[in-house]
Amino acid sequence: MKANTRQWHTLTEDSVLAELGSRITGLPDDDVTQRQKKYGKNSLSRSSGAGPWLIFWRQVNNPIGWLLLAAGSLAVTLHKLTDAAVVFGAVGINAIIGFIQEYRAGKAIEALAAMIPEATTAIRGGTPVTVSAEELVPGDVVTLQSGDKVPADLRLIRVKNLLVEEAALTGESLPVGKGIDAVSADAPLGDRVCMAYSGTMVVQGTATGVVIATGNSTELGRINALLNQTGQLETPLTRQLAKVSSGITVAVVIVVAVLITFGIWFKGAPVDEALMVAVSLAAAAIPEGLPAVITICLAVGVRRMAERHAVVRHLPAVETLGSTSVICSDKTGTLTRNEMTVQVAWLDGQEYRFTGVGYAPYGDIERDGIRLTTFPEPLRELLTIATLCNDAVLHAEGDAWGITGDPTEAALVAAGHKAGFDAQELRKRHERLDVIPFESDTKFMATLNRIDGESHILLKGALEVVLIRCELSEAQRLTINDAMDTYARQGMRVIACARRRGAQQEQIVPGDLEQGLHFVGLLCMIDPPRSEAVEAIRFCHAAGITVKMITGDHPVTAESIGRELGLLKHGQTAMQGRDLDGLSEAQLRDAVMSTNVFARVAPEHKIALVQALQAQGHVVAMTGDGVNDAPALKRADIGVAMGITGTAVSKEAAKVVLMDDNFASIAAAVEEGRRVYDNLVRSLAFVLPTNLGLACTLSLAMFFFPTVRVEGANELLMALSPSQTLWINLVASVTLSVPLAFEVLETQAMKRAPRSPDEPVFSGFIVTRIVLVALLMSLGACGLFLWEYFRIAGAGPVSAARHAFALAEAQSICVTSIIFSQIFYLLNCRSLRNSLRSQGIFSNPSVFVGIGVLLLMQTGFLQLTPLQGFFGSTPLDTRAWLLAMAVGAIVLPVITLEKWLRNRPAR
Ligand code: ATP
Repeated sequence: MKANTRQWHTLTEDSVLAELGSRITGLPDDDVTQRQKKYGKNSLSRSSGAGPWLIFWRQVNNPIGWLLLAAGSLAVTLHKLTDAAVVFGAVGINAIIGFIQEYRAGKAIEALAAMIPEATTAIRGGTPVTVSAEELVPGDVVTLQSGDKVPADLRLIRVKNLLVEEAALTGESLPVGKGIDAVSADAPLGDRVCMAYSGTMVVQGTATGVVIATGNSTELGRINALLNQTGQLETPLTRQLAKVSSGITVAVVIVVAVLITFGIWFKGAPVDEALMVAVSLAAAAIPEGLPAVITICLAVGVRRMAERHAVVRHLPAVETLGSTSVICSDKTGTLTRNEMTVQVAWLDGQEYRFTGVGYAPYGDIERDGIRLTTFPEPLRELLTIATLCNDAVLHAEGDAWGITGDPTEAALVAAGHKAGFDAQELRKRHERLDVIPFESDTKFMATLNRIDGESHILLKGALEVVLIRCELSEAQRLTINDAMDTYARQGMRVIACARRRGAQQEQIVPGDLEQGLHFVGLLCMIDPPRSEAVEAIRFCHAAGITVKMITGDHPVTAESIGRELGLLKHGQTAMQGRDLDGLSEAQLRDAVMSTNVFARVAPEHKIALVQALQAQGHVVAMTGDGVNDAPALKRADIGVAMGITGTAVSKEAAKVVLMDDNFASIAAAVEEGRRVYDNLVRSLAFVLPTNLGLACTLSLAMFFFPTVRVEGANELLMALSPSQTLWINLVASVTLSVPLAFEVLETQAMKRAPRSPDEPVFSGFIVTRIVLVALLMSLGACGLFLWEYFRIAGAGPVSAARHAFALAEAQSICVTSIIFSQIFYLLNCRSLRNSLRSQGIFSNPSVFVGIGVLLLMQTGFLQLTPLQGFFGSTPLDTRAWLLAMAVGAIVLPVITLEKWLRNRPAR
């Protein structure tokens, strides 16, 4: 059976089922296993967009790459083949490192995307089961509801108010209505109303469909569109850095031109030597190792966030998280545990209390402290409505109880059990004819059930939406509202239930729900705050981040929970969604700043809140789970979706997905975001002084070093050869800066206010630091070079052999002193503003591993004959080592002093 070659949209539902060997009750399990073997997994074979060659080419094809290639070619024409080999080698190694990093980071992000679960409901052997979307096979019958991502190509066999957004496939962002009637063979994809295609999103309604194609056989697989923009490696900071690289390239070209002119005209240096200085300078000034270091920082950050349950879907979010200044969070499940337990039933002034915790369907019902053994009819009626107008299922999981469906509904099922109701049996006995599912917008759910031969409309929902539909006297309304208030004040979520006896109708006609219902009673449940949320909110407040709770729940309930969480201070109150509607822009801005708890909020209010906060320069993280939250999630700087309870639509719209739905994980992600940013800045502050220092060393040498006469010819004294600069630049810099990606967060980092997103990376402070270190490094290195060269060669004309020996010795000590400067500066860089001690000397052991490895490599550079041949180095004696170390160490006290001066309290 070739599942994807049939024109399924032209066939009736029954013939589709027959052709696929399936039934409306789904496939039996053993058939599924057989088909899985035959059709494989329902997943798209991913290609990471750019192929390996393209990724490799990108590493070379940039201004820096071309400049280095030009420098290498110049060295070839000057017959300096070793230097040319090192420069070309550097380009190659750089490209390989860049390639590996980019390829691995792309794969890592793809792997993260795969961590976000994609579950779907299939009907197998007559019962609905939650399965991974990957396990679907042609012939499977699946059900869809609003917020779901269509998991495979489906021929629809039942629909109710179904609207599907097909932008992923057709580019059309307006949702299209769907039906079940077959269409003509030549209907284009967008007009095939009886089909739902993989990767599209259900924005409203419910449906049942049979899978006609999976994986690469789906329409999406055929056009090979990738839904996740994986492998996206650009962030605002990397873009800023790309600009810096171009700036450096231009500066290098200018300085090189000046140096060559100066060398040839003013110092009378031979052309080839002056050109070699130019090659050295190009190799010196360009931060070859930087791209690798930056990618490592970001990749480490993404990994650590995933370990703390926040999966980043878009890499730039890693950085944005660090500057988050307001977090707007849902209540249920994020700040509270989403473990609802019904505590009270209220019926016409009578209060019934339930015992037992969680979803375990055991416990008693008490009235006035006395346990009931028989249950009065009104209570039975209330619990019947709560159980029938309900889709949740409880199931035993060992000793614990698990649920399928909505926690609020599961709590109602558990409450019903305490009065002896078996939900499955009750639902079978009173067949459901029609349903209007719960939506956050409408805040109610209604079903039509056959009870004792009659159709009954059952309604449950938020009190105010139920009350307006009921026939009640004013006095009754007041009593009910008072009761509601009492329970809401205790932090309880209140669900009201009502019913209407119908005639023989088969469907809910909208007018039936508008008024004239009979009010039955209230069911009140608790959902305790998460203890870790209280802690995390305190942590955010200390970090200058405002936390706002945005909930669909009643204002009194929201206030009570808000107080427990520390979001509301004495006298502060919650604001209601509807109060936001009439506000002017300026009033809205004031309101959003002065209120921390928003209740009875509909998803569209969330957008208004995000915009009002952004208008005041805030960087906003906003959580959401429903299909209608998607626009707010997209609009927020960081949209955060719930991995467990969130709809597929919300996950697609979000930049971060919380695997545990827990507020504490957002706080953790923000902390990691600050760490990543700090580490990126640290890496820059560490790497760039070396480049500037090397460029200064070479320029100082050109401008101020004397020319020496070697066997009658003028020779320029070069403090460093091109290959030596590359050694420092590529090997030493990378070895030392990688450990910075693992640096712990500074104790102060979560106590300072969030960074403004406009703050430039190269603040005055960083630039001063870079220049200061570069000067110390280059002055020390030049001084040592001259000292050592003339100590060996003496003043005046010198033989070629003596010159070569003195030059090797002087260059070796020069390289070693720069390496020591880097080592000591690395210690300083672990905290840019505070002393090394404040950071904990041994808190990042990888720093010492890096230093150890580098010292070993430097010994090899000086001692190993092949490397000596390559780099023109020579072994140093103990005196020279100590001298290099002493000169390199100067940077430590000087920068410590500079930090101390900066940190002095202003007088
Ligand atoms: P958030 O997760 O944003 O904090 P919430 O879960 O508290 O929101 P909603 O789910 O929008 O809020 O629910 C709003 C109100 O609707 C609740 O206070 C409750 O009265 C009612 N409600 C919640 N779930 C259901 C349901 N399954 N059926 C009927 N009514 C419900």
